[in-house]
Amino acid sequence: MKAIHLSDINWKKTKAVIFDLDGTIYNKRFLSLHLVANEVISLPFLMRERMVYRSFKGRCFESSEKFYDAFFEKMARGSHLFSANTARSWYFNNYMPLMFEALCFFYKAEQWALDIIHYCNDNNIPVCVVSDYCFVKDKLRALQIDPQLFTFTIATPDLGGLKPNKRVMEQVVEKLGVPAENCLMIGDREDTDGDFARSVGAMFLKC
Ligand SMILES: [Mg+2]
Repeated sequence: MKAIHLSDINWKKTKAVIFDLDGTIYNKRFLSLHLVANEVISLPFLMRERMVYRSFKGRCFESSEKFYDAFFEKMARGSHLFSANTARSWYFNNYMPLMFEALCFFYKAEQWALDIIHYCNDNNIPVCVVSDYCFVKDKLRALQIDPQLFTFTIATPDLGGLKPNKRVMEQVVEKLGVPAENCLMIGDREDTDGDFARSVGAMFLKC
């Protein structure tokens, strides 16, 4: 992961900034270890969850409800350990609280990201966070970042899909109200964040 400085950005062309969250606004190194160390029972769930996220990359469902139904069904499929309902309950009642706790104790926002966010605020440039995981605002608060610094935050499953789905990105750009070519995506992955930006002709910088 590398810092992106204000001077790395072409501000003449950039009229809106889209941030990825995990691995971009904070360095998520060892996050899985922290989660598992805290609750070993989460390991089989966590392994399935990662696998299903990878297999759902770029897909789009009709709604958030349909996305999560398919997601938890696939998590449970082939597993003799838990049902779709148990997977859902683990995700929202164990996994997410564990995540907030780990972020609170072990992680902090990257200063370079905060500098860009504040620059956008000071210059009336819309800035948002788009993450493939839910509870974006709670995670920002756990990192001691005020969610109000952002024009809006989006969890892509709420739009029915995952990065780098083009339909999802089109909705983000529309919400920003800026032509796609003037939007800059900042993220830690070429295959999700980079392709997400390129799907609509937006700019991309990899941190
Ligand atoms: Mg990321």
